[in-house]
Amino acid sequence: MTSDSAFKAILLEETDGKVSATVSELGNDRLPAGDVTVRVAYSTLNYKDGMILNGLGRLVRQYPHVPGIDLAGTVESSESDAFKPGDQVVCTGWRVGEVHWGGYAQRARLKSEWLVPLPEGLDLKRAMAIGTAGFTAMQCILALEQHGLEPGEQGEVLVTGAAGGVGSVAVAILGKLGYKVVASTGRQQLGDYLKSLGASSIVDRKELSEPQKRPLLSERWAAAVDTVGSTTLANTLAGMRYGRSVAACGLAGGNDLPTTVLPFILRGVNLLGIDSVMCPMPLRREIWSRLARDLPTDKLDEATSVIPLADVVEAGGRILKGEVQGRVVVDVNG
Ligand code: NDP
Repeated sequence: MTSDSAFKAILLEETDGKVSATVSELGNDRLPAGDVTVRVAYSTLNYKDGMILNGLGRLVRQYPHVPGIDLAGTVESSESDAFKPGDQVVCTGWRVGEVHWGGYAQRARLKSEWLVPLPEGLDLKRAMAIGTAGFTAMQCILALEQHGLEPGEQGEVLVTGAAGGVGSVAVAILGKLGYKVVASTGRQQLGDYLKSLGASSIVDRKELSEPQKRPLLSERWAAAVDTVGSTTLANTLAGMRYGRSVAACGLAGGNDLPTTVLPFILRGVNLLGIDSVMCPMPLRREIWSRLARDLPTDKLDEATSVIPLADVVEAGGRILKGEVQGRVVVDVNG
């Protein structure tokens, strides 16, 4: 921490429509409104952070802005009965880092209703190794379970964009739960990494991303977590077994969906849309407690790298090119 009255942060500014990012020292008087002030220990890098750091998608409407959609740290001061100084807390979602100043800062001021107490069994760093990406992976798996995916399922469970943040965590959890996980990746050199996380086999992402002439493919997948969207999601839907479900959370391959109604009306396939941002608090707590229980920490550590605040901007460019592997934790004091 720079001092009690000042803190280091990544500040995004916009000039003539161009967004630039610098590590800056800010006074506490610049902090936004909120009833809890947190000394941030760690944040993370997600695909959305890459977009925000590069001014894409009009996710941020007001500059100057402090990005970082996740944060974990210790409560410094609180006007809320729910939290007291010294409590360790985690924040993901609620458009923090987009509409509200986020976690790429040594200090953050937030609304208490956005915070969850650090889940038992996790430390601040591991909670951020999970972050929005890992949270979303678990949310996808819970949705699949609510639609019939059960331990003991012998069929193949597909994860697309498997070497990325959401994908890596999904592979690790599904592997631990005993499913036969097929990891789709464009990086064949990461095949051994994905198998060590929990994948049974690897499929080249081209097999799923090439447009197909037939609207239905042979019935292969017992369930799927899709982080890619577009033709990959369309082909996944076309290759589902009867009555099975796809949890769709991402658009790394595009936000279109070139499919037909046939997977839905001839195979009873369910398309489950997953949004972690506005996920209601009871479900949010359930997801965190399942993460603390079901995510193998050794695999999580294997999938995690740590970077200092100063390296975030460069890493934000790499995640947009699909070059980041697993989860990236940001040590905001590093
Ligand atoms: P990452 O960049 O870490 O992972 C995305 C992966 O997708 C890449 O690693 C790559 O995997 C694959 N990929 C990238 N570009 C392409 C492409 N053009 N075609 C096919 N595959 C591609 O991102 P995250 O895991 O953090 O996020 C994944 C997606 O999920 C993003 O779109 C993100 O916005 C979304 N998301 C949504 C949330 C929600 O609440 N709905 C929450 C969190 C994320 P590989 O190299 O293995 O092929």
